[in-house]
Amino acid sequence: MVHAEGVRKHYGKLEVLKGIDLTVERGQVCCLLGPSGSGKSTFLRCINHLEKVDGGRLTVDGDLVGYRQAGNRLHELRETEVAERRREIGMVFQRFNLFPHMTALENIIEAPVRVNGVNKSDARAEAQRLLDRVGLGDRADHYPSQLSGGQQQRVAIARALAMKPKLMLFDEPTSALDPELVGDVLDVMRDLASEGMTMVVVTHEIGFAREVGDTAVFMDDGVVVEAGDPRTVLVNPEQERTKAFLSKVL
Ligand code: ADP
Ligand code: MG
Repeated sequence: MVHAEGVRKHYGKLEVLKGIDLTVERGQVCCLLGPSGSGKSTFLRCINHLEKVDGGRLTVDGDLVGYRQAGNRLHELRETEVAERRREIGMVFQRFNLFPHMTALENIIEAPVRVNGVNKSDARAEAQRLLDRVGLGDRADHYPSQLSGGQQQRVAIARALAMKPKLMLFDEPTSALDPELVGDVLDVMRDLASEGMTMVVVTHEIGFAREVGDTAVFMDDGVVVEAGDPRTVLVNPEQERTKAFLSKVL
């Protein structure tokens, strides 16, 4: 579903991604860990067409990010084509980014109705089903300000799922939450994983990565230092840099 080969990205003189190699198979959960500033968010943003890749090859579901292939020619994607590709990718951020003036249910139906042209009553039924699924069936008419951070994050996940994405990206989805609210969000992500969703999750929740991750990738300073089975990478890492990082977050 995601394949990166030597992916590079720089901002001016600052090289942020220095040749990332990474593969996420369909239906798998890849947990991405690493110190602040190592390029994790930038890499997710590249997958989601929010940043342009400067070098290497990055494909999502076989399509080269940013380009369309016609015969053996590559054409840069037009804005509308980028939007089409982005619709198939769900993204959940550290901050929940819900529309504050809309209820939970309205937040969820907004994109399906406006972007995909789904009729409102179908969208509402689907949104209610999604709210039930994230354990918030009784909160449909609540505004974000009336929900806890953890509940808002679960609405944000439901909102992303409403677009029926083939890939979900999570960028530290529980980092901004009070500790007692983290578990419910991780439970929703765990369910999603068990239903076969392909996920790339930037997280420092080592327990989650170990239990739910099919692969763990440790990044530092723009490179993949170590990758593989989470039960190895996060329990018995080979690299000193991985060991040092884990000893800090555990
Ligand atoms: P992480 O998510 O691992 O903490 P980021 O991908 O956010 O790392 O950032 C990697 C590096 O790129 C950092 O040094 C950060 O300051 C820099 N960076 C990120 N976004 C930008 C940007 N839009 N312009 C300039 N530098 C950026
Ligand atoms: Mg980040």
